[in-house]
Amino acid sequence: MPPIIRTEGLRKVYRVGHEKVVALDNVNIAIEPGEMCCIVGTSGSGKSTLLNQLAGLEKPTRGQVYIGKHEISAMSESELAKFRQAHLGFIFQSYNLLPSLTAAENVAMPLMFKGVGQKQRMEMARQELAKMGLAKRAGHKPTEMSGGQQQRVGIARAFVARPRVIFADEPTGNLDTATTKQVLYQMLQMAKEAGITFVMVTHEPRLAGCADRVITIQDGRVLSDVLEPPQIVEKNRRELFAGLYDGPEGQSKQKEDEST
Ligand code: ADP
Ligand code: MG
Repeated sequence: MPPIIRTEGLRKVYRVGHEKVVALDNVNIAIEPGEMCCIVGTSGSGKSTLLNQLAGLEKPTRGQVYIGKHEISAMSESELAKFRQAHLGFIFQSYNLLPSLTAAENVAMPLMFKGVGQKQRMEMARQELAKMGLAKRAGHKPTEMSGGQQQRVGIARAFVARPRVIFADEPTGNLDTATTKQVLYQMLQMAKEAGITFVMVTHEPRLAGCADRVITIQDGRVLSDVLEPPQIVEKNRRELFAGLYDGPEGQSKQKEDEST
């Protein structure tokens, strides 16, 4: 199968005063449809820069980024905005929920851009929240929810319109260990179920164990790009998600969230 995401000679230079910061240098990667891909590396290595390039949030200094057959690095800002709304989803470390909207209204946002009517999009949003164990939180505002709950709302929002690719930059960075596992597990399950390609930045190598592909960035270059054997990924997932994970055929043990 042709890759869903591909870069060619990708380079990104930031100018800070008279200084030049080479954040990415000659990055050539390819991610296959349906893959769970982790981008790892130390702080400042260029992970977020790479994710922003892949997601069309920033323009490269040199080189190309393709999503499917579309060269997103050649699109105008307005073309990019439309492309992102139609095909891409995002999950942020700081959740980025709109504080004045309820959980369901936040989740329904991407559907509005797709022209889904008010009644149907609220229904779809509630269904997506229920999958995340948040059916009873649909009417809550972000400030009335814990960090883990807010991030699950963020996940529901990213998935609700079934984009081709979802990008996440340190999505569990603000969460404790138990919540991290739960949130990661849910993202993975949802992506696998819907066949969505999932690209996640993390600085925690432990979390990358559940990925099909692990791309390690160092000083803006690809240090390694490893496609893990499926049996190893399966074993790592079992260990990481012990108690949550029943294997590929199993059902999620996630229950309705009763915690506050
Ligand atoms: P990571 O996500 O791996 O921590 P980043 O991609 O955020 O790393 O940053 C890579 C390098 O690029 C760092 O040296 C950082 O300081 C620099 N950088 C990132 N964004 C900008 C920016 N907007 N302006 C200037 N320098 C930046
Ligand atoms: Mg970063």
